[in-house]
Amino acid sequence: MLRNPTFGVVSLGCPKNQTDTEVMLGLLKEAGFTLTFDNDDADICLINTCSFIEDARRESVRKIVELAEDGKELIIAGCLAQHFKDQLLEELPEARALVGTGDIHKIVDIARAIVADSSLRIVQVSPVPDDHIDEVQPRLATGVGASAYIKIAEGCDHACTFCIIPMLRGKFRSRSIDSVVKEARMLVASGTREIILVSQDTTYYGLDMYGRMALAELLEALHEIEDLAWIRIMYFYPTETNRKLLETIARLPKVVKYIDIPLQHSHPEILSSMARPQSPEKTVALIREILPEAAVRSTFIVGFPGETEEHYEHLLSFIQEQKFDRLGVFAYSRETEVPSGSMPDQVPQKIKKLRRNRIMEAQQHISLARNERMVARRLNVLIEGFDEKKGLYYGRSEWDAPQIDNVVYIEETGLDYNSLGDIVEVEITSCKPYDLFGVATASLTAGAGTEELVLAGS
Ligand code: SF4
Repeated sequence: MLRNPTFGVVSLGCPKNQTDTEVMLGLLKEAGFTLTFDNDDADICLINTCSFIEDARRESVRKIVELAEDGKELIIAGCLAQHFKDQLLEELPEARALVGTGDIHKIVDIARAIVADSSLRIVQVSPVPDDHIDEVQPRLATGVGASAYIKIAEGCDHACTFCIIPMLRGKFRSRSIDSVVKEARMLVASGTREIILVSQDTTYYGLDMYGRMALAELLEALHEIEDLAWIRIMYFYPTETNRKLLETIARLPKVVKYIDIPLQHSHPEILSSMARPQSPEKTVALIREILPEAAVRSTFIVGFPGETEEHYEHLLSFIQEQKFDRLGVFAYSRETEVPSGSMPDQVPQKIKKLRRNRIMEAQQHISLARNERMVARRLNVLIEGFDEKKGLYYGRSEWDAPQIDNVVYIEETGLDYNSLGDIVEVEITSCKPYDLFGVATASLTAGAGTEELVLAGS
């Protein structure tokens, strides 16, 4: 191995994984390693993997094999390394190191050791991830323009019967308010306009550390940061979505009115087999009462073991009645290590797919009707980039999260590259089920690259 190898990177999976990748890159950069975002130039690739469901595992393995075939040496981090360290070590001679989900902060020592000794292979996977790092770590941004994720906690204390995350990520561990605010200030000082708070169960935040749920307090503290435009929260848990939290969100203008709450199912029997909270309709009603303008996003699982046609029809009617603004549906993925994997009456793959497709079709109509209500309205849109194919600038409204929700394309505009990170008022002129089109009317707040407010378009 070269004395000063170049490190490439691949980050798979969810935004929580992305923050781990950015921390590892930040630590490597600070320690003086040479990094590249073009893996063709890399000698060693750091691949941060996902092992949440079968499809994610397949994608991780496919990428690992592709890099190995390209002659790269590998540091495999994240959920797949946590889950299958022995198999990976045995089957992949290219794997120089395996790094568990609770060990990512040891990346510099691991990298130094494998560079110093080309015959060394390291397994750094704590059996029960329980690291608790509360200081602000260096981060090298890999992501979504003017937005940055902040992971406010790790692990999960729930026991949903389909989920392997508590096994792979350990018990819930919050970071302090002080540490999160410091990281947010650092990101805003370097141009971030939107902070997106993530963890496995964001509304549980603080219970382990302060003895009370403290997300509302964290929001108040973040709200004080000047130049921060939007604060977004991902992953509400139904029973933790209480009046106090929703009223805090309603009161703080920088906290976007966007509630991302995975409900997983509607039928009491399925919810009970999933070990999930009952009465999702009450939670949605509370959200709509306190935040009538909010976009509500939810995700559901179809084909859970024991799901009959009747259970499924209950879910379909629930979705049609509630008319969620944004929706994701997953076909249940059988995991042998979790309780649902050995439940009777597993649903055939074909039926799961059919059920999923029917819901997606129903949601497409709901989504189009939701978007049609936006036509002629003026929305604040965070400008994120330029679509070369369409020849249009695009961004997101406060009701949309990056990479999963609607995109707003801006058709007549005085925007240019200095506008990236600006929040611009856009009048919506037309829509599709998952896209909006409009005309910029004014730039409301300037991003990092813009020195003064400019009027754009008309
Ligand atoms: S709350 Fe989420 S992360 Fe925790 S066990 Fe349930 S599905 Fe998994």
